[in-house]
Amino acid sequence: MDASHLAANWSDIRRRVDEACREAGRDPAEVTILPVSKTFGPELIRAAVALGMRRFGENKVQEIRDKAPLLADCGIDWVMIGHLQTNKAKDVARLASEVQSLDRLELAEALDRRLQHEGRAIDVLVQVKTSSEPSKYGLPPEQLPPFLDTLRGYDTLRVRGLMTLAIHSNEPVEVRGCFRRLRELRDQAIAQGHDIPRLSMGMSGDFPLAVAEGATELRIGTAIFGNRPYPDSYYWPEPVGGT
Ligand SMILES: *Cc1c(COP(=O)(O)O)cnc(C)c1O
Repeated sequence: MDASHLAANWSDIRRRVDEACREAGRDPAEVTILPVSKTFGPELIRAAVALGMRRFGENKVQEIRDKAPLLADCGIDWVMIGHLQTNKAKDVARLASEVQSLDRLELAEALDRRLQHEGRAIDVLVQVKTSSEPSKYGLPPEQLPPFLDTLRGYDTLRVRGLMTLAIHSNEPVEVRGCFRRLRELRDQAIAQGHDIPRLSMGMSGDFPLAVAEGATELRIGTAIFGNRPYPDSYYWPEPVGGT
């Protein structure tokens, strides 16, 4: 991946998202892209910053911890999108601008305690489990209303919306059903007085379906940065070359 390839990917994905918006009868200005930089190193992220990207999604706290100091001059907002252990709340409170994977009360308590200590407040999205796959994290949908009510008590956590991962399936109907579920849950919560407009859903492989169901934010990794060379481990590949 060199810098010109990255630039081509970046404009290409934006064009494809705009196209999906048009097909869904939506205004492209309503749908933002969150670049997911997990497993990619500081050189490539720096090249992405040069193209105008400022927010980056990461799924491991350790990666944010390692990359943030190396990119301190870039003004990056780090967004935590992966499963978060309670004992990592301290680093998240210090380094992340936002958490999209808030899925349980214990984590809200830990983040709140650490954020109070830091004197900060952050935006959060509640991750909801919209598929029956056993491996997926997220709050069970039926627990969402009481959870949102409880979160009103935490001043450090500004709840702005919901996040989900769709089922991994070749059946568009099933994938789309997950996205629809999240939108319906959001609409019900809004009707109950919660100000949570944002829907973070859709990735490189399924974003048109998410756009069709009302996504306001797509978490895109592969389509921007290419295939992750070591998908399951944390590794910085070659630095960006080219011009
Ligand atoms: C990796 C990841 C993405 C991006 O996936 P791609 O298929 O590479 O676009 C989105 N959301 C979460 C939670 C991820 O961990």
